[in-house]
Amino acid sequence: MYIVQVASECAPVIKAGGLGDVVYGLSRELEIRGHTVEIVLPKYDCMRYDQIWGLHEAYRDLRVPWYDAAIYCTVFCGWVHGRQCFFIEPHSQDNFFNRGCVYGAHDDYMRFAFFSKAALEFLQQSSKKPDIIHCHDWQTGLIPVLLYEIYKHHGLAYQRVCYTIHNFKHQGMSGADVLAATGLNNPEYYFEYSRMRDNFNPFALNFMKGGIVYSNFVTTVSPNHAWEAHYGEFGYGLGHTLELHQNKFGGILNGIDYDVWNPEVDRYIPYNYSQDKIDDKQKNKKALRERLLLRDSKHPLICFIGRLDDQKGVHLVHHAIYYAMQRSAQFVLLGSATEAGINQWFWHEKDFLNDNPDVHLELGFNEELSHLIYAGADLIIVPSNYEPCGLTQMIGLRYGTIPIVRCVGGLANTVFDRDHDQTHLPKERNGYVFYQTDQQALESAMDRAIGLWHSYPQEFRLLMKQGMAYDYSWKNPGTDYLKIYEFVRHK
Ligand code: ADP
Repeated sequence: MYIVQVASECAPVIKAGGLGDVVYGLSRELEIRGHTVEIVLPKYDCMRYDQIWGLHEAYRDLRVPWYDAAIYCTVFCGWVHGRQCFFIEPHSQDNFFNRGCVYGAHDDYMRFAFFSKAALEFLQQSSKKPDIIHCHDWQTGLIPVLLYEIYKHHGLAYQRVCYTIHNFKHQGMSGADVLAATGLNNPEYYFEYSRMRDNFNPFALNFMKGGIVYSNFVTTVSPNHAWEAHYGEFGYGLGHTLELHQNKFGGILNGIDYDVWNPEVDRYIPYNYSQDKIDDKQKNKKALRERLLLRDSKHPLICFIGRLDDQKGVHLVHHAIYYAMQRSAQFVLLGSATEAGINQWFWHEKDFLNDNPDVHLELGFNEELSHLIYAGADLIIVPSNYEPCGLTQMIGLRYGTIPIVRCVGGLANTVFDRDHDQTHLPKERNGYVFYQTDQQALESAMDRAIGLWHSYPQEFRLLMKQGMAYDYSWKNPGTDYLKIYEFVRHK
C-alpha cells in the first residue's frame, strides 16, 4: 500500500509532543512491513535541520490557490532517520512557517489551513496517488474536507482518509474567512450542523469536526480514550459528532519506537542495559545524579517528563516534588510550559530549589536528557487530568522505570496496579495507579511505590522486569492501522 502521512510534527525533526513520535514510529513500522510511506510537513524555520539527510528541492513553483490569488511554494525532500519527508515552504508575506515556533501564533488556523491545502495541491500536481492519506489532529482536519469537496474532482478520486485525533482539546476554530481562503467558499453549506459548524458556537467552523465528518475512518490514540471522548467529557464538545459517526470511530493504542526507545542500544545513555543486565540501570542513575549535581543517596529517584500544563495535572506534579522530598526521595523534572503563568511558577520553584541536592528542575525541551532520565530514574509519575494515550509511562516501562499514573485515558490501558489490579495476574502487573485528582490519592500511590523500593528491593526489581517485558512497540498498532487502511480502501 502507498500511504502519505500529513502532519504538523514528525520526531525528531519537529516535535512538540507525542504526535511527532507517532507520525515517525507508525511510518517506520509500515515501511518495515513493505508499504511505501511518505510524510508531508510544513518547512518550519525552527526544525532540527541536523536531523534531515539529503535535503533538496523536489518541486518548484507549487501553485496553491489562496483567496483570489495564489501562493507559490517550494517543496523540499529529505530523509529523517530513513523516512522520506516532503517539506512545504510557502513564499508569501504571511511567513506562515517562519515564526520560530510550531504552534501558538495568532493565525494558527490560517497557517495550517494553508498547509492542508498545499499538501493536497502537492499530491495532485506531482501526480502522487496514495491509497491512503493519514492525517492528524486539528491542524490537518481540513484535508478530508478539501479532498471530498474539491480535490476528488481534480485527480484525487480514489484516495481515502484515515484521521487520527491525538488531543480533542485543541480543535481549530475559524470564521468564514478560511472558506474564502481555501476555495471552499459557500458558508451556508459548511456552517450546517452536519458539516463543520462548531457544536456550541454557531459562528465558528470547527476543523476537527470537519475531519471527523469527512474522513473515511477516525481513530483516537487509545481504546479507553475513545470511550471517554464519545461518552464522557473528554470529547470537548465533539461527543455527539462521534455518536453520529460511531461506525467509523475507534481507539488504537499508540506504540513506542523501540529503535529509539531501547535501553539496550540507546546512544544517549552511558550504560546500555536489558532485563538480564538490569543492575546496569544503577550506573545510569549515578550518571544522571552527576550530570544534574544531585547528591549520591540511598533513596529512590522519581521523575516527571512532559509538558507542564493543566492536562498533565501540573498541580499534582508540583505536589509530587515536595512530597518526594518529604519522603527523602529525589526528584527530577524535565518539562516545558507554554502558558506564561505556569512557566513563571516553575521558574520560581526552580530558583527556590536551586541549591537543593535532591531536586532538579530542568525547564525546556531536551530530547537527549530525557533519555538519561528515563534510564536513571526508579519511578516516573504521570498524574494527568486527562491523557489520550501517554507515551512517557510506556517509555518508562521499557526502561524499567516504574510508572505511577492516574487511571485515565491510555494510562488505564497500559499500567496495571501492582497491588489492586483486578484484571491482570500479579505477574502481569507493572506499576501503580490512583484514581482521584487530589493530593492524597497521589501520595498513597507514591507511598506504596517508595515503600516497596525500600522494604522489598527484590520485589521492586521483579516489578521493573515485568514492566520491561511488556510489548508496547508498533507491532500491534501497526497491524490495527493496516486493517483500517484495508477497510477504507475498498469503500
Ligand atoms: P503529549 O501530550 O505531550 O503528546 P505524550 O506522553 O504523548 O504527551 O508524549 C510526550 C513525548 O514528548 C515523549 O516522547 C516525551 O519523552 C517527550 N517530552 C515531553 N516533554 C519533553 C521535554 N521537556 N523534553 C524532552 N522530551 C519531552
